Amino acid sequence: MTTRNWAEPYKIKMVELIKMTSREDRLNAIREAGYNTFLLRSEDVYIDLLTDSGVGAMSDRQWAGMMMGDEAYAGSRNFYRLRDTVKEYYSYEYTVPCHQGRGAENILSQCLIKPGEYVPGNMYFTTTRLHQELAGATFVDVIIDEAHDAESDHPFKGNVDFDKLDTLVAEVGAERIPYVCMATCVNMAGGQPISMANLKQLRAWCDKHGIMLVHDMTRVAENAHFIQRREDGYRDKSIKEIVYEICSLTDAATMSSKKDAMVNIGGFLAMNDAKFYEKACSLVVVYEGLHTYGGMAGRDMEALAIGITESVQDDHIHARVGQVQYLGRRLRESGIPIVNPIGGHAVFLNATKMLPDIPQEQFPAQALAAALYVESGVRSMERGIVSAGRDKETGENHKPKLELVRLTIPRRVYTQAHMDVTVDAVREVVRRRDEIKGLRFTYEPAMLRFFQARFEQIG
Ligand SMILES: *Cc1c(COP(=O)(O)O)cnc(C)c1O
Repeated sequence: MTTRNWAEPYKIKMVELIKMTSREDRLNAIREAGYNTFLLRSEDVYIDLLTDSGVGAMSDRQWAGMMMGDEAYAGSRNFYRLRDTVKEYYSYEYTVPCHQGRGAENILSQCLIKPGEYVPGNMYFTTTRLHQELAGATFVDVIIDEAHDAESDHPFKGNVDFDKLDTLVAEVGAERIPYVCMATCVNMAGGQPISMANLKQLRAWCDKHGIMLVHDMTRVAENAHFIQRREDGYRDKSIKEIVYEICSLTDAATMSSKKDAMVNIGGFLAMNDAKFYEKACSLVVVYEGLHTYGGMAGRDMEALAIGITESVQDDHIHARVGQVQYLGRRLRESGIPIVNPIGGHAVFLNATKMLPDIPQEQFPAQALAAALYVESGVRSMERGIVSAGRDKETGENHKPKLELVRLTIPRRVYTQAHMDVTVDAVREVVRRRDEIKGLRFTYEPAMLRFFQARFEQIG
């Protein structure tokens, strides 16, 4: 943060105690977990930076909202509150609740995709691409090249490359592209924003070709923060206004409300088209639940509606992103190679640079995440070749240019001292990097392998 202090706009009313572990405890735990931080028990973790998903601290207002749950099977008052909130803050006419983001992605993909079609997107997300593929589509990456370059400090690495989009249309035809999938604050690129100018251009491009524009809005408020800070003409606009403007430029959205909206579970599919809504309603009953709850309890829809209103408050989002920037800046000052610019929800360590002697086939980022845990009890996760999975045609490993370890900051959970401990831990791992060994699979799941894969050390 450049212009003002990011100090937290809240105080702590309740605490959760965490267990302290020894190095020996952690060595045993990581071996038992097959060197996969997803398979550690949370009890054995000191500072949990695995994800920002579903791990935020709800406010007293959200908890109070939980007591106002209307647990009717049909027509819960909390559903209408949620629907009205989505319309007021995000502009979308219709809301279909889903148990979480991937539930919405499933319904979206099944509604809009026909086998053999192509879905371009500003970088893939794991579950998003899988649902596109399961519906018979091929994902095509159309993000700008800078997004794949950890060194580039382009301010809007989430931007779309229109040459790539035009090439795709020339190759397959616009009629075989059901929609463009546009993510705000692109997770896999390191929490990197798309600019409003690029998004407006994308809107015009989609209109020209008669293609729908679908918004993965999981981190839209964080994206709005970067637009406010970096883009001409937005400095005096509120986060709420910018979020609304982003959403208004798109036709439909999938939301994992476990991120921006600070609830432990939930999500939705939203859209403006009545026919699409009708189709989604008929599918949601198959996979999620009736269209007025879609896998969510009434109380959870209430907490989500309140979370949406809190997520777009300027003070909140500046403190949230400010804490992430603080961690990133301190790591950078310590000479640790990280992805630039520092993103909105996480700091990404460049494992290729930190462990240059471990080839990508031996999963350097996976090994680094395991070593960081053993060093300090800080849990991170791999975002590299393991997460990228295999090509659905050839069975070969996708080989992403970025081999990263993600330190993801939960919202409103950890303090500045926790960030300092994390910096010290990363520095110590770097100091002892010669002890880190490459890994090989002992178990590789067919889909989304990073969640449950197991490894052993080589040598
Ligand atoms: C988390 C996430 C999803 C999937 O949402 P879940 O709630 O985990 O199912 C989709 N897209 C992005 C960008 C995400 O970060």
